[in-house]
Amino acid sequence: MKTITLVSGRLSPKALSVGLIAFIFLVCVTLVSAFAWQLKQSADERLTNAQVAVNNIVRASEQQAQDTLRQAESILSNLAERVEHDKPSDEQRVRLSKVMADNVETTDGIQGLFIYDQNGDWVVNSFSSETIAKNNSDRSYFIYHKNHPDSAIHIGQVILSRTTGDMIIPVSRRTQYPDGRFSGVVLATLPVAYFQHFFERLDVDKKGVILLALNNGDLLARRPMIDALMTTNIAKGELFSRYLINSDEGTANLTSVVDGVERVYAYSRIRGLPIVAAAGLSLDSVFATWWTYVYQASIIVGLIIFVLISLGVLFYRQIQRVLVAEEELHIAHRDLEHIAKTDSLTELPNRRCFDATLAHEWSRACRTGNSVAIILIDIDWFKQYNDHYGHVLGDECLKQIAQLISKHTNRPADLAARYGGEEFVILLPETELAGAVKIAEDMRSAIEAANIEHRGCTAGIVTISAGVTANHQRGVIVALDLLEKADSLLYRAKKLGRNRVEHQLREVIET
Ligand code: GH3
Ligand code: MG
Ligand code: MG
Repeated sequence: MKTITLVSGRLSPKALSVGLIAFIFLVCVTLVSAFAWQLKQSADERLTNAQVAVNNIVRASEQQAQDTLRQAESILSNLAERVEHDKPSDEQRVRLSKVMADNVETTDGIQGLFIYDQNGDWVVNSFSSETIAKNNSDRSYFIYHKNHPDSAIHIGQVILSRTTGDMIIPVSRRTQYPDGRFSGVVLATLPVAYFQHFFERLDVDKKGVILLALNNGDLLARRPMIDALMTTNIAKGELFSRYLINSDEGTANLTSVVDGVERVYAYSRIRGLPIVAAAGLSLDSVFATWWTYVYQASIIVGLIIFVLISLGVLFYRQIQRVLVAEEELHIAHRDLEHIAKTDSLTELPNRRCFDATLAHEWSRACRTGNSVAIILIDIDWFKQYNDHYGHVLGDECLKQIAQLISKHTNRPADLAARYGGEEFVILLPETELAGAVKIAEDMRSAIEAANIEHRGCTAGIVTISAGVTANHQRGVIVALDLLEKADSLLYRAKKLGRNRVEHQLREVIET
């Protein structure tokens, strides 16, 4: 019921203002929330797409590295088998060198093949069948195999080739005598440039990165290429120190220790090899178009909010104006009401006000059974007063009498009004006749005591006559009867010599 009244009823301007502010606030909050949610969704989507893309790049790099290294491993196993038992003769060496050169020719990613004896001396290589008096016993892969009896391949950190001067990744394997003693090393060199070329063909942004590194963090290849590739170790970076220790593959957002760029990375340990492949797309490029969208959409949302708030301010001001106008109207109405109910000369309530109050009090008395009393007052010989002192002084006298009369109405519900001309009427709700007579007598004696000069009459002062009546019977007479009775009692007071109060309890008239 209350809801229906709220919906169908008329809202006050104040409630309308509050409602308007709340509505605009709600619309703005909803708009901003929906916008933020949408941005978050599209950012997440972009990140997921980027993760898929870098994952694919890692898979491709992983595959390529695995293929190349497996081929190198297979060739090295072959070579090791050939030289493990016998030191090749000069003739065999020439043949072997040719086979090795063929292997290099037909295998992508292998630049050279070498066989060293247990002292590190060059035995055979794929570049030349001539005996070359060089020694590689200082190379770390050589020292490694000398000290490690296993026959697995070893991938070393990037070094400069002594043959070509290129940066190469050494892939080597130990050879040994049947009794297990170290007999030398077979080596395949993989140029870093081979991996670099492959990386160049993959699709990453300018700030993106693709890399291969040893498990200990030594870089093997990287796009973009860096000058310090051979000496760069990324083991301290988050990729190794935080992610790879927990999982062999995955994706992560992190900042590169090499160039400080923040990227979304995918990483993977290459199965069966001590190598890690990783690729990253810079967050700048991943979110470049997203940011453009954010700026454009923010401007649009900002404009909408601006228009909404402007309209709100406009409406709010209009409502405030209506409020002010309503307040002014209310004041004007109150003034008019006052004017309509007040006698301008005496400032007492006028006849209209009295009539309305009498009707109201009468019906209340009918409900409650209480008595209502009326005193009708008329100034004695007032025509003579006017004749003697003039109309202006007559008015002043009227005002003075009005003040004296109103002083004797003490209760809030009492009403002293100017009835017309020099007549006054006093309405006394919930008042018995005796009480009303006393009030009337007090008024009369107060005016007498005021000693207002009146040379136009024999008494020499202004006096009043009053008729007092009251009724306490429920709904048996009408209010006008009471007034008529008061009037006739007033008339009697005049007849009986004036300056007196006449009263009589009116008998109940059954209807
Ligand atoms: P009575 O004792 O019989 O009442 O004699 P009265 O002269 O008072 O009676 P009457 O009704 O003949 O005269 C009333 C006079 O009151 C008429 C008029 O001059 C004067 N009067 C009525 N209204 C006003 C008013 O607003 N101002 C002034 N100055 N005089 C008024
Ligand atoms: Mg009169
Ligand atoms: Mg009179």
